[in-house]
Amino acid sequence: MEFGKQLQEWRHYLHQHPETAFEEKETASFVAKKLREFGVDVVEGVGGTGVVGTLKCGDGKKAIGIRADMDALHVTECGVHDHVSQNKGKMHGCGHDGHTVSLLGAAKLLSERRNFDGTVRFIFQPAEEPGKGAQAMIDDGLFERFPMDEIYGLHNAPFLPAGVVHTKVGGVASSEDDFTICITGKGGHASSPHEGVDPLACFAEIYLALQTIVSRNARSTHPVVISCTEIITDGAHNAIPTHVEIRGDARTTTPEDQLLVEERMRAIVEGVCGMNGAQYEFRYTHEFYPAVNADTCVTAAVKAAATVVGAERVNGACEPWMASEDFAAFARHVPACFLLLGSGKNDAANVPLHNNTFDYNDSVLETGAKIWAELVAQRLPRQ
Ligand SMILES: [Zn+2]
Ligand SMILES: [Zn+2]
Repeated sequence: MEFGKQLQEWRHYLHQHPETAFEEKETASFVAKKLREFGVDVVEGVGGTGVVGTLKCGDGKKAIGIRADMDALHVTECGVHDHVSQNKGKMHGCGHDGHTVSLLGAAKLLSERRNFDGTVRFIFQPAEEPGKGAQAMIDDGLFERFPMDEIYGLHNAPFLPAGVVHTKVGGVASSEDDFTICITGKGGHASSPHEGVDPLACFAEIYLALQTIVSRNARSTHPVVISCTEIITDGAHNAIPTHVEIRGDARTTTPEDQLLVEERMRAIVEGVCGMNGAQYEFRYTHEFYPAVNADTCVTAAVKAAATVVGAERVNGACEPWMASEDFAAFARHVPACFLLLGSGKNDAANVPLHNNTFDYNDSVLETGAKIWAELVAQRLPRQ
């Protein structure tokens, strides 16, 4: 069967059988079976349902890792094509079915071509969506058991034209931190605010002051997003609340900015509450690291992508993607490059990631596979 058609068939199968975080059992079996068919050494159960394939050629000492994610979303699919999800309430709405298939395609190409000198690690991670699968593989000894000098990964980008590749040196995908601010004042009759301490008045000041972190504290060239997304009070129409709880999400592209946001946010909450005589509790948790690309790996990925799609379709200095990616956890351990592969369809009704009718653009499955195979040949050249 023609290569592109083969990849499409695998992708449609995976799309029909989506599995969510740490439950990717059938997906992992499918991946492991295919890798074994290509003659790749396979270890299953790495970090739960993760799979690592190893392909060696020659006696080169260098090893590179390429990562795909396997998990689906807890979303009920509303698409109308012939390969819709058969698992109720679950769907591949982020295109991880496509990422998995492109990496399998690369494994097939490389096992046939054997045009490199060194080791390739094909890394299929579980649980990208909740940001837990990469760390689970690392904690299970990924880098000790399967040493590698560099790691690469991609995400499809329906907001870019199909086949266009974007990446950049430094922060390419943002961190995601969650925060909770609890303010305790003294509630009372809505007619008599002077008798109490209004926690909502505190929050009003905090809400606006948080944006000064973006405009006055972060470097003007560094993107930072701070969003308060939920507010819960114990007040009523005619009663000033005692408690207000605010939740939200902050994103940056460097670990330094992540720290800056946390420190400034804490200082603002403390200062405003102190000024108003309210008590506070501030919780700030790191959910995703920012994905930081190394310049040597970006150069290598740009060169390989340009060979496959043409230099005019590769942007090696793109804007950062303000979504978060679990790939970032791997990139903290070895030099890395994460890239975006345009997967936009040329019709007006382009469907965004996580939409309940999303369906991976099959036309870029082969592009992804070829970029990885080319990268390996270029990065592990035969002497
Ligand atoms: Zn997603
Ligand atoms: Zn995704």
